[in-house]
Amino acid sequence: MEETIWETIELFCPVCNATFNQLVVLHKVPKGFKIDRYLAGMVENHDHKAYQAAKAQAVDGGTPQAG
Ligand SMILES: [Zn+2]
Repeated sequence: MEETIWETIELFCPVCNATFNQLVVLHKVPKGFKIDRYLAGMVENHDHKAYQAAKAQAVDGGTPQAG
């Protein structure tokens, strides 16, 4: 039996100039696993466009979208 550990980690994206929360699975992390590299990759790969669009929409007070 393995326990899955979900952890919410706050990341900073220099492209969006904002922090966002990312849910990460921390079970079965290999020995010597570079969590910093992993998180940096998540920041690089997150959807900057979607994030900024959602943020702009919130500021505009536009119609909120589901999802
Ligand atoms: Zn970003």
